[in-house]
Amino acid sequence: MNIMLPFQTATARRAFNFKSLSLTPALLLLLPFFYAACTGNAPVNNAQSNAQGNAQGNASSSAAPAATTTARPVFNGQRAFEHVRKMVEIGPRPAGSAELARTREYITGELQTAGLKVSSDKFTAQTPAGAREMVNVTAELSGESADVIIVSSHYDTKPFKAFRFVGANDGGSSTGALIEIARALAASGSKPRFTYWFVFFDGEEAFCQSWSQCGTPNAPDNTYGSRRYVAQLAERGETKRVHAMILLDMVGYTELAIPRETLSTPWLVDIIWETARELGYGAQFTDEEESVEDDHIPFLQAEIPVVDLIQLGGYSQYWHTAEDTLDKISPRSLQIVGETIIASLPRIEQRLAGR
Ligand SMILES: [Zn+2]
Repeated sequence: MNIMLPFQTATARRAFNFKSLSLTPALLLLLPFFYAACTGNAPVNNAQSNAQGNAQGNASSSAAPAATTTARPVFNGQRAFEHVRKMVEIGPRPAGSAELARTREYITGELQTAGLKVSSDKFTAQTPAGAREMVNVTAELSGESADVIIVSSHYDTKPFKAFRFVGANDGGSSTGALIEIARALAASGSKPRFTYWFVFFDGEEAFCQSWSQCGTPNAPDNTYGSRRYVAQLAERGETKRVHAMILLDMVGYTELAIPRETLSTPWLVDIIWETARELGYGAQFTDEEESVEDDHIPFLQAEIPVVDLIQLGGYSQYWHTAEDTLDKISPRSLQIVGETIIASLPRIEQRLAGR
């Protein structure tokens, strides 16, 4: 991914060639409690987490005993962290490597164990390093409707020759969180309103040193997997099935502080940030702003609402260095992100269904 200057954001849908930082205060207030009027929808689930101390709204009058199974998905940050540990143990996992194939086997195994239907799309990408085999992995949780919401992450790591890059946060954290989100939703046993595709993109990272160094407008050296995914959707005539795309990327830092990504679709950002605030995570979902080019851009270009949860500027001291290691991320940060996403999904469904 790549950070952009604010004046560049207007051209972001076409451009892939910026590298600079923008951090400005948010200008807009959230719509005040827009969802309070939506009775019966999307209760924020905060009963399950002992990782949070200050959540509000835990007031289910017919609360089941704590030990019984609930239909609500329960995200476990420790499980997500263990996934990241396993990926980091595999080592550097650039696109096309044997290590990424092992990572993919691990991801696929976890998703299948969770009872999800897993498919993979293998393709050959032409990169500055030559032709590389890449594989996007999708796990499906079918819902009442065939309409789709995508939750996604890239699972490759950026190739570096000069040092060992294991991408604990960059590629690892979001992949671990996504496996656990998928498991939690599948395990809840209740059929969601929308169909969910949990998508693991290959080839997000540039092969050349910087994001735009070797690409051309028609052939960027980045986002290979997500561009392939959107092209395949179009080829199958399924673009219109996808109503929202949620991207996680670098979501595990111990000092979690995710800014509002300004290329993202505002209503999606608002729902997630408002949900986080209600859960007591306002400090971790900040009102800073940052513009980032990432795997959400090809979906945005296909006119699909997108949101990118990414802490890039705030992680710049470790980003794409040998220091992006497991000690920089925490189960609690993963818990905060996973819980927030899971609590946001019914609200996103509600918003989409109300259109
Ligand atoms: Zn990266």
